[in-house]
Parts: sequence; structure tokens; C-alpha cells
Amino acid sequence: MKFYVASKGDHKSNMIKSIIEQYLLDFDLVLSKEEPDLVISVGGDGTFLHTVHDYFHRLQETAFIGLHTGHLGFYADWLPEEVEKLVIEISKKKFEIKEYPLLSMSIFYQNQQEPVEYLALNEATIKRIEGSVVLDVKINGQPFERFRGDGLCVSTPSGSTAYNKALGGAIVHPSLSTMQITEMSSINNRVFRTIGSPLILPSHHVCQFVPVNPDQSFLITIDHVTKSVENVVALEYAVAKQKIRFARFQPFPFWKRVHDSFISDER
Ligand code: NAD
Repeated sequence: MKFYVASKGDHKSNMIKSIIEQYLLDFDLVLSKEEPDLVISVGGDGTFLHTVHDYFHRLQETAFIGLHTGHLGFYADWLPEEVEKLVIEISKKKFEIKEYPLLSMSIFYQNQQEPVEYLALNEATIKRIEGSVVLDVKINGQPFERFRGDGLCVSTPSGSTAYNKALGGAIVHPSLSTMQITEMSSINNRVFRTIGSPLILPSHHVCQFVPVNPDQSFLITIDHVTKSVENVVALEYAVAKQKIRFARFQPFPFWKRVHDSFISDER
């Protein structure tokens, strides 16, 4: 089996990366940054997001594990003291694969035939630096509402505990192939009206945001990545065809993860 260990880059994460590499090489596993079967991310959830984005091109072949060197992460759920247990489990090559949905976003630009496509593990958002975002929201091609406010967030089930949660969205179990749209401070009065509630769409639905003024520039975030875009005629969101594969060596049910992250991690 081929493996790669990605590190946050700080001293502690680099030390743990070296220890894991040495153990796994001793167990006759093969180090391969280009074509790993298993990637171990050492750091926090931010490191995990970076690492997964680096392997979006080979999601079918690669499974992921996160080990945290700071506070408990949602994706980075192994502890530094569990390194030996983890490498022994990896060497036995007996792990379960849990597949979770991803979000696909396509940006259609003026004067460009083909859209530019992205994948997100947590969410994609659209905002502006100055002034309100004004977008026509369409669901499956049907006009739904004209949104005016700070922005919109479209999240995956595993991202539902991240930015989406802070926006009042629901926590969604990742066995459900869905995407969730949440508002950021919509303007609601007699002139402007939005639904005001988070919307959860199934995997066969498509949602489009059409900027009312395409000459405006927007800030797009895709997980940890922020980009400024202009001349956008539409953004299209759907549950991605690709899935992320997590390697599970011990049961860690989603609701236990939610409990430990947000309620208490005292056993
Ligand atoms: P960051 O350093 O600001 O970390 C954001 C926090 O989000 C960290 O505590 C991390 O552990 C947590 N987190 C990430 N994914 C999570 C998940 N799926 N469930 C629960 N918690 C999760 O930023 P970063 O490390 O670059 O991570 C980018 C992520 O930050 C984005 O994908 C977004 O979800 C999140 N974010 C959250 C808010 C907010 O809650 N108000 C605002 C902006 C971004």
C-alpha cells in the first residue's frame, strides 16, 4: 500500500509526520506523494481541507485520515498519543471506507463557453467586499427568489457543522446525499423578500445563482480558498458525482463526533 503524510508545517506536526513515515516504512509500506492509497493529514481541519484539495484529482483511489496536533478537529480526529495504534492499524490494512458527499460548483463567465468547475468538502459561499449581493436564485431552472444581503452559503452534509452551522443551518448526516443553502443576513422588508430558512436539496436537484449585475465583482470561497471573480453570468451548484473516502479504523459515529466537537469531549 502506498501512503503519504501531509503536515501543517509546524514543529509538532512535522515531528509526528516523520514518526508516522518511519513506522510505516518499517512496516514495508511505500511512500508516494503522487499516487497514495492513503493520505494522513497531520495538523487541524484546515490542514485536512488543504490536503484533500491536493488530491481532488484522485478521489477514487485515495482514502484520508486526519490526526490533530492542536484542538480536536472535525476531520482531524486522531490524537497525537494514538500514533502507534494508528500505524499498527494501517499496517494491518484493515480499514473501513466511509464515503461522504461533496459539492460541485460551476462558474459561468461572460464570453466563455465552458464553465470553470470546483469541488468543495465543506462549502462554497458567495459574498461581496462592498455592498450587498443581489442574485436571482433558481432551483432546477425555476425562479425561486431574488436574494439581497451579505451572501449565500451552499454546504455539504459534512460541512454542515462548519460555516453552515454558524449561519443557523441544520446539521445533516453525511449519509444523506444533499446540499444545503443558507443565507447570510438577507434584507427582508416590503420590497425585498427571501425565504429566510435554510433549504436542503437532494442530489438530483440543481441550484443556480444569477447575479443581477454581472459587472460586479464577487468574493467566492471554496472551503479555505477565497477568490475574487467578475463577469460572472451564473453559478451552478449540485451534489458532486465524486465522493470523499475516509479510512475508518475504529467506529466514530457522526453524532458522537458532533457531540464531542460541540457539547463536550469528556468521556
Ligand atoms: P479557520 O482557521 O478560520 O477555521 C475555522 C474552524 O472551522 C476551525 O475551528 C475548524 O476546526 C472548523 N471546521 C472546519 N471544517 C469543519 C467541519 N466540517 N465541521 C466543524 N468544524 C469545522 O479556517 P480554515 O482552517 O481555513 O477552514 C476553512 C473553513 O472555515 C471553511 O470551510 C468554513 O467552513 C469555516 N469557516 C467558518 C466560519 C464561521 O463558523 N463563522 C467562517 C468562515 C469560515
